[in-house]
Amino acid sequence: MMPMVPRAIIRRASSRYIAGATLDEAIATVRVLNDDGAMATLDVLGEYVTQLSQAETSVHEYNHALESIERNNLDANVSVKLSSLGLLIDSEYCFQRMRDLCQQAKERNNFIRIDMEDSEVTEVTLDIHRKLLEEFENVGVAIQSYMRRTQNDVSALIQQGANVRVCKGIYVEPRSVAWKDDGAVNRNFARAVRRLLERGCYVGIATHDESLVWETERIIEELNLDKSKYEFQMLLGVEEDLRRVILAAGHRLRVYVPFGSHWYEYSTRRLRENPKLAGYIIKGMLNGSK
Ligand SMILES: Cc1cc2nc3c(=O)[nH]c(=O)nc-3n(C[C@H](O)[C@H](O)[C@H](O)COP(=O)(O)OP(=O)(O)OC[C@H]3O[C@@H](n4cnc5c(N)ncnc54)[C@H](O)[C@@H]3O)c2cc1C
Repeated sequence: MMPMVPRAIIRRASSRYIAGATLDEAIATVRVLNDDGAMATLDVLGEYVTQLSQAETSVHEYNHALESIERNNLDANVSVKLSSLGLLIDSEYCFQRMRDLCQQAKERNNFIRIDMEDSEVTEVTLDIHRKLLEEFENVGVAIQSYMRRTQNDVSALIQQGANVRVCKGIYVEPRSVAWKDDGAVNRNFARAVRRLLERGCYVGIATHDESLVWETERIIEELNLDKSKYEFQMLLGVEEDLRRVILAAGHRLRVYVPFGSHWYEYSTRRLRENPKLAGYIIKGMLNGSK
């Protein structure tokens, strides 16, 4: 049904989740978040590029974002989907562009998080992250607790001393690859967070699920962890009340801020992939923009 939904409706539905089409709009959003005590991570929309020239454009946009974060003295880093840097066209090219970006970020004392995409690219994404870690400290990766392989990946990431975002996972995967039971996904999430934190890895706890926030707070308490060892992470426009509760409890929290001219493709892809997401958006529209 997606092609039948008018562009204006998609724009309205996605506007609370996307900072805007331009870097200036994203920077303005980050400034507001910083003023509210939250950190941010900027995501330039534009995944699954089909030409290397598009990947080149993504690299330029990320460089501008890093430059602008520094110039405006903002508390923000960047999140990158490797498919936006040409992963599906030429993985070596993608790796070299990531090296360039890590170098840029290093010179600006900043950090790059590699988002995790669908299961077709899990292995190569972790591989590129591992190779980057041989050269750079300012790079981390995301893992998804719905994946059956996740605890093995956690073991490898612990060995690497990696900086890891743990999320549930957004892509629709076959049962052979991913857990389908919500309880199993949640227990796998908490287990991954616990194992990583116990072994001294920095963890980004990326969820809006209150029960997981509760569970991970207990893990943090139990391990008596300093606040500098982890952060909570949430998406722009989602569960803002819970965001304030987490900040009020004294935790560090980072908001994921997508922006860019490819907002339409991003929004429709997410909606097509994930009916649950469409449900959240419809609920949000019916409730008004709270
Ligand atoms: C900072 C951050 C980075 C992420 N990076 C990745 C990544 O690299 N790879 C990846 O596959 N996935 C990523 N995700 C998405 C993640 O995997 C989940 O799909 C998403 O966060 C929903 O899971 P949840 O833990 O919030 O739990 P859920 O049980 O799905 O959601 C809990 C509650 O949060 C609300 N909610 C959740 N998502 C939305 C939404 N989009 N709109 C409105 N309300 C919502 C609903 O009220 C829901 O009841 C990221 C998520 C965050 C927060």
